[in-house]
Amino acid sequence: MNTLTVRNVIFRTDELFELQLERGDVQFEPGACVALFSNSTESRPYSIAAGTGEEILRFLIRRVSNGIVSNWLAQRKPGDKVSASAPFGWFRPGRAVAGTRSVFIATGTGIAPFLSYLRSNPQRLPELCLYGVRRQTEAFNLEELQQIDNFRLALSQEEVNGHFHGRITGLLEQIPFADDIHYYLCGLDTMIDETSIWLENHGVAYTQIHREIFFYEDGQL
Ligand SMILES: Cc1cc2nc3c(=O)[nH]c(=O)nc-3n(C[C@H](O)[C@H](O)[C@H](O)COP(=O)(O)OP(=O)(O)OC[C@H]3O[C@@H](n4cnc5c(N)ncnc54)[C@H](O)[C@@H]3O)c2cc1C
Repeated sequence: MNTLTVRNVIFRTDELFELQLERGDVQFEPGACVALFSNSTESRPYSIAAGTGEEILRFLIRRVSNGIVSNWLAQRKPGDKVSASAPFGWFRPGRAVAGTRSVFIATGTGIAPFLSYLRSNPQRLPELCLYGVRRQTEAFNLEELQQIDNFRLALSQEEVNGHFHGRITGLLEQIPFADDIHYYLCGLDTMIDETSIWLENHGVAYTQIHREIFFYEDGQL
């Protein structure tokens, strides 16, 4: 267990914020999570959004109504302490097999592991990155993501010039297929399930589809 100091809490909207913690000697790979604890000893996993070369750990967090840990974290101030587990997990964007290419698909805070990858491996960009949020203000680090040639933002509840209006699954036709491409999906279960089925129906092997589900909308575990 690590006790980490809060560097900053930066709100993007009323419910979305970036939590920055001093890194200490935490070592991680892009895609790793840590369990963050509230002072009531409840913990939840959060995916690291920082690059492996940064001196802080960044987390992109949605504060859910009545949520125990997300609300506690949202109320932290610089200098506060937060308990964190060692990094864990097996979701590793872009690391399937040397020489393979990747496609990233995220909803909401599910962009975090992909930002960690991009910040750690700026020389190995994915073939395509699809990112779905409700409104443009909810999109984290848009300018950084737009360095990917094939980056598309889907806005489900807002029309903005230059971005797709609709659910991210409306962009699936743009996904490239090739034997050496691995597909990394992160965020809500509905998007991940729909996209996985779509990929499999187009002949993509299950072993080339990598999934990290943050939240099951029907409440199942
Ligand atoms: C591997 C993994 C990585 C994750 N990484 C992140 C991350 O990087 N950023 C992030 O914000 N979250 C992430 N999560 C989700 C996170 O772990 C918590 O589930 C979330 O923050 C809610 O915890 P809570 O204690 O605030 O809410 P709880 O007290 O657990 O739940 C309160 C209520 O909110 C509902 N609820 C819980 N989560 C959501 C949600 N996402 N949307 C809508 N309703 C919800 C619950 O069903 C419940 O009714 C991740 C989850 C997993 C499994």
